[in-house]
Amino acid sequence: MNLSSGVKLNNGIEIPYIGLGVFKAEEGDETYNAVKWAIEAGYRHIDTAAIYKNEVSVGKAIKDSGIAREEIFVTTKLWNEDMRQDNQLKAIDVSLEKIGLDYVDLYLVHWPVKGKYVESWKKMEEIYKSGKAKAVGISNFNIHHIEDILAASDLVPAVNQCECSPELTQVELADYCKQKGIIFQPWSPLGQGNTVKHPKILAIAEKYGKTAAQVILRWGLQRGFVNIPKSSKKERIVENSKIFDFELNDEDFKELFTLNTDKRYGPDPETFAF
Ligand code: NDP
Repeated sequence: MNLSSGVKLNNGIEIPYIGLGVFKAEEGDETYNAVKWAIEAGYRHIDTAAIYKNEVSVGKAIKDSGIAREEIFVTTKLWNEDMRQDNQLKAIDVSLEKIGLDYVDLYLVHWPVKGKYVESWKKMEEIYKSGKAKAVGISNFNIHHIEDILAASDLVPAVNQCECSPELTQVELADYCKQKGIIFQPWSPLGQGNTVKHPKILAIAEKYGKTAAQVILRWGLQRGFVNIPKSSKKERIVENSKIFDFELNDEDFKELFTLNTDKRYGPDPETFAF
């Protein structure tokens, strides 16, 4: 297994296990360089969103990399306001135009916007059929949100991208997704830079001669998850990719679950208001 290794989504498309997240990376040099360094380091998967306002730089760095389009897995997301404005079908076109691509590999409903997420999922079906997204999925959906869309549609989301780290292990939701054939994709796997300071994770990392970030990402990989750590720093982008040359033993793997406190660094899908 290596950085281009991936898992098959429920429609047969393969998603690489590690992607570069670019939330909070500024449009321009910061995003461009992060994506460029990631691709140079061997990443073949980038996770952006319309609301990150850096799709132009993501697309430019991909184009300039010289790597064939079909070798890079690109995810972007449908923003909440586009759902409220019934602008779903136009929003994908705007994202494609900004990234400079004919299709994205994965398009996600960014949040389960009340009163809008079920009809937005029906629009995702249209987008999927149009070929503008090779796969479609959801983000920040809890079990009851998923039940609602599955009651209204035969299309099972390929991915559910949710906050998850050793401080928020999401066991029930991840198990539910697995049962349904939905790949679970943790966001903020490093707790936005906080969870990497946890003393118990630092102690485990020392045993393996690895960093805390690498231990957390390896734990996610061993759970079968697709991780999208964010960094704008070249050395950390490289560091976060080096998780294929060690394995957590059973004891350490299980120990990480004991750190759960249901701590969220981001908004809660049940109470978000944006
Ligand atoms: P992460 O958990 O990936 O943490 C990123 C932070 O950790 C940054 O401050 C980064 O700083 C720091 N960091 C990165 N690598 C290391 C390291 N090896 N050691 C120490 N610190 C490190 O948080 P994100 O919130 O960015 O989540 C990852 C991605 O998930 C996002 O970029 C985005 O693509 C996606 N996401 C999706 C959401 C959704 O609603 N669907 C919500 C939030 C995120 P620096 O850049 O300075 O290295």
